[in-house]
Amino acid sequence: MENAPAGSWRKQDATYNMTGSKCEKCGTMYFPPRIICRNCGRDGKIKEHKFSGEGSVYSYTVIRVPPHDFRNVAPYTVAVIKTNEGPMVEGHIVDNGKKVEIGAKVRIVLRRMTVDGEEGLIHYHYKFELV
Ligand SMILES: [Zn+2]
Repeated sequence: MENAPAGSWRKQDATYNMTGSKCEKCGTMYFPPRIICRNCGRDGKIKEHKFSGEGSVYSYTVIRVPPHDFRNVAPYTVAVIKTNEGPMVEGHIVDNGKKVEIGAKVRIVLRRMTVDGEEGLIHYHYKFELV
């Protein structure tokens, strides 16, 4: 994955800390963060909101034929997580020996995602582990 470092830094807070946004007018939460509320438009008051990082498996699949960057970690599980706050988030499931199933509780963890080349930049990203 050849990400531009500047692009990685800009997304760091959302990627590392699961920081999204919340409309203080209607209470709707967004992840990834939005700057305008879908419900309230310009009348909304969007503020940064740190998500709990907890949720449950809404759906999942096992990737057996991965893209190039993940060829060394396949097979692995990718899931759609329904966060406790509401928004759905896609992420890798860390293999901790527990069985992935719909409705299983998860929490966010920070893990290495990819490395640029042999000695390149290591990219970290959130993943989810079963609790
Ligand atoms: Zn709103």
